Amino acid sequence: MGSLYELTREELGASLTGEPRFRVDQLWRGLWREDRLVDEVTTLPKGLRERLALEHPSSLTAINEVVSDGGATTRWVFALHDGATIETVLMAYEDRVTVCVSSQAGCAMGCSFCATGQAGFTRQLSVGEVIEQVVVAARAGAPRRLSNVVFMGMGEPLANYDVTVGVLRRLHEERGMSARHLTVSTVGVAPAIERLAGEGLALTLAVSLHSANDEVRNDLAPINRRYDLTRLAAACRHWIEETGRRLSFEWALIDGVNDTDRALDELAAYTRPLAAHVNLIPLNPTPGYLVRGSAPERVRAFRDGLIARGVNATVRNTRGRSIDAACGQLATVTRGKPGLRRDGSTTTVALRNKPL
Ligand code: SAH
Ligand code: SF4
Repeated sequence: MGSLYELTREELGASLTGEPRFRVDQLWRGLWREDRLVDEVTTLPKGLRERLALEHPSSLTAINEVVSDGGATTRWVFALHDGATIETVLMAYEDRVTVCVSSQAGCAMGCSFCATGQAGFTRQLSVGEVIEQVVVAARAGAPRRLSNVVFMGMGEPLANYDVTVGVLRRLHEERGMSARHLTVSTVGVAPAIERLAGEGLALTLAVSLHSANDEVRNDLAPINRRYDLTRLAAACRHWIEETGRRLSFEWALIDGVNDTDRALDELAAYTRPLAAHVNLIPLNPTPGYLVRGSAPERVRAFRDGLIARGVNATVRNTRGRSIDAACGQLATVTRGKPGLRRDGSTTTVALRNKPL
């Protein structure tokens, strides 16, 4: 049987046939409000706990864990029951604690600059496999409370639509997280953005734009050949009108490709009518894409250029970059080389081969 985190409170009740209602409440509270593993829900009788733990084993086995930034960033590689691997990153900031989750093992979208895209698609994740990433991270981040979940790990969340929405609903309704602290990042699956706008969830949406020129974007993100920039802008407008929420564009600055003055003008013209916020991040180099990220001076100049053109722009905090946290580097660096950091500094590596 699958993860207990697949189940809503109602469904938990249905699966605990013959048990009194207060047992369901104890289990629900332990799982969703106290981040406990089922065998730690000590309010339940031992026999019941053991049976549930046997019937619903953990979905994730940590095969690698790397801690950096003085303990503020943790990155895991998890093996799933069939051997597929995914990655999850926990980032503690002064004002928030964020987990970056994977929504798929691999990704079929084929973005040229992205390590996950280069590796291809393995399979969809289930609701339980995504929620358990959140729970593992929440436990590791304790006693601080996990405040934010971002779908910026492996995979395209809107290509695993029902699971993504199921996860969002459970995080909001069962785990009690504020919807605006849940961020879905998409490469731009236009019809799915429109559908998401109708789900009644006041989420934060990030669109990975990277180019406001169809020819260039066709190469960077092949989804653009299906849903071009005009179609994408229509979906963004629909999102804004339907949800009343702003959205942001992600822009990985690539030397000579999308950091030119022309790219700046194109981005400003595309963004202004949507009043979107732009998050700039220098491209992280990946083995399959031999182009460099923009130099720090160019990143700053690009940001200033956007601001001068009336666009709200920030350079994304790149802390955690030494372990390539959350930025399309997932799936490469740790594979076969636990704990290796590209800047050569030391890391703490803990190999845990037991289910969490
Ligand atoms: N599939 C979704 C979410 C996962 S990717 C999406 O594309 O939005 C998360 C973010 O990392 C996206 O903004 C993506 O464009 C960015 N990214 C991918 N590869 C990168 C790289 N090499 N350097 C910097 N950002 C990258
Ligand atoms: Fe998939 Fe996002 Fe990577 Fe594109 S950037 S290949 S959509 S994970």
